[in-house]
Amino acid sequence: MDESTQDNQWSLETLAIRTGHHRTHEREHSEAIFPTSSYVFKSAAEAAARFSGEEKGNIYSRLSNPTVGYFEERLAVMEGGESCVATASGMAAIMAVMMALLKAGDHIVCSRSIFGTTTIFLNTFMAKFGVEITFVELSNLETWQAALKPNTRLLFAETPSNPLSELVDIQALAEIAHLNESLLVIDNCFCTPVLQRPLMLGADIVVHSATKYLDGQGRCLGGAVVGNAELVGEKVFAVLRSGGASMSPFNAWVFLKGLETLHLRMKVHSDSANELAHWLEQQQSVKRVYFTGLASHPQHALAKQQQSNWGGIVSFEVAAGKQAAWEMIDSTQMLSITANLGDAKSTITHPASTTHGRLSEEQRLEAGISQGLVRVAVGLENIDDIKADLARGF
Ligand SMILES: *Cc1c(COP(=O)(O)O)cnc(C)c1O
Repeated sequence: MDESTQDNQWSLETLAIRTGHHRTHEREHSEAIFPTSSYVFKSAAEAAARFSGEEKGNIYSRLSNPTVGYFEERLAVMEGGESCVATASGMAAIMAVMMALLKAGDHIVCSRSIFGTTTIFLNTFMAKFGVEITFVELSNLETWQAALKPNTRLLFAETPSNPLSELVDIQALAEIAHLNESLLVIDNCFCTPVLQRPLMLGADIVVHSATKYLDGQGRCLGGAVVGNAELVGEKVFAVLRSGGASMSPFNAWVFLKGLETLHLRMKVHSDSANELAHWLEQQQSVKRVYFTGLASHPQHALAKQQQSNWGGIVSFEVAAGKQAAWEMIDSTQMLSITANLGDAKSTITHPASTTHGRLSEEQRLEAGISQGLVRVAVGLENIDDIKADLARGF
């Protein structure tokens, strides 16, 4: 196979299109899909050398696959990391990081406003294996600092948060983590490397749910872990190799194609969300809008500093509460009532009864998820059509 073309002077848009493709002897222009579970050796001696690790090369697709490798190489370059390991889903990426880096007796600090399944995974499963977890307020660095212990191995955060778009200062949090000899892991699902590059701000590891914006059209489940060669290339890879939550080559191909248009899509998602947020702020029945692009957002300046655009998620509170929020959702005709996001199709969700439905009312209020809250993941339809659809409910 050819060497992949790559020029370190290239901008992110070019890297997203031109890196990580190793052309075969067929000279294909678009990346090839290799749907094979194993690979053939020239001789018994070559098989032995591959299995012993003496010689590099493919053995079995749980360990490596060319199409998956293209995706890993491309995403690693885009995030600015040495290594990337692709996984079967975003949760598999988070699980692999935790299993690779934690042991019984370790402690982790995690922001309260993270993806619900991540909270369940930590509280139910990591806790079962003797890992202690402290949840803190995402934007408040003092609460992170106060939660640290000598055995704190890692800090885990999602910024901006879902659905209220709170942020944490990644650079400051990385300093706090490193002074305590802990690692900082950032779930970069909402921004993608196009809007935010946590490794460049000092984070040690980035995790992704590729299911969202990297795919961009709601087709495949996938995930990824990016970081340095030791933590990710060796430790996280070792867990995946034995644990088995590898990415399928077909899904890797879909994500490769997704990365090529990511910068265009993130621009439209962000610009449309910004226009929608400003419009929502003027609606009589809307009490409050949560969006980092609004001057009214308490961390507007931080968003400007650490992100290159706002992202596509807008949440708002309907003054009249749950009944009004449900009526508002049900009056739309185009928007999809579904909890997924990062799709070309705009989606609308009532967090209190869906994504955050398993929390107690007290936990929900602590997280700021009121009964009147509605979340819109702004898609790629014309923004005037999205506004017109929402206007039916006001
Ligand atoms: C969806 C999501 C995940 C989980 O990803 P899956 O691909 O669904 O397993 C993790 N983190 C965030 C922020 C997400 O939105």
